[in-house]
Amino acid sequence: METKQFKAESKRLLDMMINSIYTHREIFLRELISNASDAIDKIYYKALTDDSLTFDKDNYFIKVDTDKENRTLKISDTGIGMTKEDLENNLGTIAKSGSLAFKNENELKDGHDIIGQFGVGFYSAFMVADVVTVISKALGNDEAFKWESQGADGYTIVPCEKDSVGTEIILKIKENTEDDNYDEYLENYRLKGIIKKYSDFIRYPIKIDVTES
Ligand code: ADP
Ligand code: MG
Repeated sequence: METKQFKAESKRLLDMMINSIYTHREIFLRELISNASDAIDKIYYKALTDDSLTFDKDNYFIKVDTDKENRTLKISDTGIGMTKEDLENNLGTIAKSGSLAFKNENELKDGHDIIGQFGVGFYSAFMVADVVTVISKALGNDEAFKWESQGADGYTIVPCEKDSVGTEIILKIKENTEDDNYDEYLENYRLKGIIKKYSDFIRYPIKIDVTES
């Protein structure tokens, strides 16, 4: 299995992003939920012009699941999904919208709230996770693929099994350090608070079980 390298600029940005101390680290969830919502939008708009597709609102949602034992946080959506090429092209380069915000290092140092304001995108997942796994099946495809990365070292893509169209983003949450608490991202009530704070306007249901924990 070949490990592919991120494009040079992405690598630099990624290092900067992961190694900086963030007061707004929690916004990774906003970014992943907004991507999930965009992916559902894409199916919705496709259904408007494609008679073979219907958009039944009940089938489209975003789900957040935690597994404390395995230290994983999963964000799933029933959106349009990604082909192997999509995974390669979309997750192999830091989105331009994100890179703009990080162009100037000085700006980064004294402007933590930049992070709260710009769409920093998918890679913000690495602020809280040391492994990110994306399992996706694209609309109209029979095959599913698994993209996996531990950050700046690159990523792998292999075929995998997935029943339904859509995407699962699985974050292996970092271990706590002396200075940083990551356990909170495995607490559903905490995640629910973050969702309320940043993703209240999302127009699809965001399911999260808060009866346990
Ligand atoms: P942006 O959302 O600004 O385009 P991101 O870094 O957040 O940048 O995401 C990069 C791209 O990866 C998206 O544009 C999209 O094509 C793809 N992507 C990310 N998450 C998903 C998802 N859950 N479903 C489908 N595509 C996704
Ligand atoms: Mg995004």
